[in-house]
Amino acid sequence: MKRIVSPVRASEGVAVGRAYVVRRSVAASTAVCGDVKSERDRFERALETSISQLSELAAGDGIFAAHVEIARDDMLRDGVLSHISDGMPAAEAVKCTGEEIAAMFADIDDEYLRARVDDVRDVVSRIGANLSGGVVNPFEGVRDGDVIVADTLAPSDMAMIDFSLVRGFVTEAGSATSHVCIIARNRGIPAVVGACGCTSAVADGETVAVDAANGEVLFALGEDDERVYRSKADAWYGERASDSAVKDLHPRDASGREIAVYANAGSVEEVRAAVAAGADGIGLFRSEFLYMSEAEEPSEERQYEVYAAAACACGGRPLTIRTLDAGGDKMIPYMDFGHEDNPFMGWRAIRVSLSCREMFKRQLRAILRAGAVGDVRVMFPMVTDMSELRETKSILEECKSELSSEGIAYDSDIRVGVMIETPAAVLIARDLAAECDFFSIGTNDLTQYVMAADRANARVSALCNPMTDAVRRAIRMTIEAADAAGIECGMCGEMASDAAAAGVLLEAGLREFSVNISSIGRIKRSLCALCRDSDRE
Ligand code: PEP
Ligand code: MG
Repeated sequence: MKRIVSPVRASEGVAVGRAYVVRRSVAASTAVCGDVKSERDRFERALETSISQLSELAAGDGIFAAHVEIARDDMLRDGVLSHISDGMPAAEAVKCTGEEIAAMFADIDDEYLRARVDDVRDVVSRIGANLSGGVVNPFEGVRDGDVIVADTLAPSDMAMIDFSLVRGFVTEAGSATSHVCIIARNRGIPAVVGACGCTSAVADGETVAVDAANGEVLFALGEDDERVYRSKADAWYGERASDSAVKDLHPRDASGREIAVYANAGSVEEVRAAVAAGADGIGLFRSEFLYMSEAEEPSEERQYEVYAAAACACGGRPLTIRTLDAGGDKMIPYMDFGHEDNPFMGWRAIRVSLSCREMFKRQLRAILRAGAVGDVRVMFPMVTDMSELRETKSILEECKSELSSEGIAYDSDIRVGVMIETPAAVLIARDLAAECDFFSIGTNDLTQYVMAADRANARVSALCNPMTDAVRRAIRMTIEAADAAGIECGMCGEMASDAAAAGVLLEAGLREFSVNISSIGRIKRSLCALCRDSDRE
């Protein structure tokens, strides 16, 4: 047996299947180069076609918004036209310009922006394909049970893949933030990215095993090896099948009250996946992903499009949109955060929104308008003082009156929530509860601030633990304050996705869990078992 080990942890699970190997590179046109004018015209036509194809994809999935921006960017168009003027064939000029732009992105000291190199290559390969007669689907031949092995898998590749047939993914390129990983994690498909040499080492059609948690791709399997990996894969699928069997269950506590299992999502596509996996709604829609994926601040109209599509995808279930949570470790490329010694204690979240009032109003108007389409709620991150909640609510009222006088439909009774992410918010929880409609406990930040332990610093990770006494007490205080005021209290931090913490949280009175999409089944199963056990007592 041979193995390729990747240092990246892309998803979890084990899969065994037939390798479907896709080897591609951006092919330069072999066609004879026409004159400069005809090459320019060919390029303009291919660019136009690519933009309209990508816009169509972006309407269904926000992930493609960045692609549309890249395709529309003058840097790409001007670069290609200048190479063509120098006598280069259009296809070669597209390839060259793409590599120049990708090299610029690759040098940026920011993991998220570096990951956009894949988007540039994806756009360039689409324009190249349109120049040579159209986009072909390299995944057309995928059969049930295949493991796709590719040099790279771009978002537009993912849009062509029938996931119901695919057992696993293996790619040469990719980081933990690349789209293939996000999609694999959300769909529960085992994936290994960064498996250097996989497309030449693995033969098309040979049996291959993917051990995602260990970042391993196994091939040239002996009979015994294959048996071992098949039984690991069966165990993994068995576990997932029992998760999906309980996805339509609705756990109830001893008093008969239903316990909601919502999901956290960052795009319309994820909202759809969450609903398909049995989520009772979306407890946290991270709007910052939309801001981060665009080249400039998304307009009110663009935001409305996305929020309304997410509300439709929820099909009447609640959609809780968190307003922009920028700052800390979430940089927005076109916003100037300047240097901060302690960015997590600096200009972030609601502080940013309140100091960029016009931008904040554009977001609030878009959320209010989406409220006319579904059960949309608005939620504010990192509130630490009553003055912030009051100012925010007064801006919200201002937006409502503007929309009324403009005759635009919106939800005048939109429910307003506060994230409890700081010790300050816990301490004033009773006051906050008197002036808002719900709480959502953000244990990722709450834990780091209560324990004074940076959530990204491995040396203090033992302290940055939500099961510590102090954090558990803070959670309990928050739930008590919400109960006393008669408002709902949910949790959208990672702790809610941890089945081992479910008992503690139920006991503390939590009745709304907002979890990772791939944890919905597991958490529902745990909650059902815990409620059954407490019924028997
Ligand atoms: C949290 O802090 O728990 C939370 C959900 O917000 P984020 O992880 O996006 O900071
Ligand atoms: Mg947070």
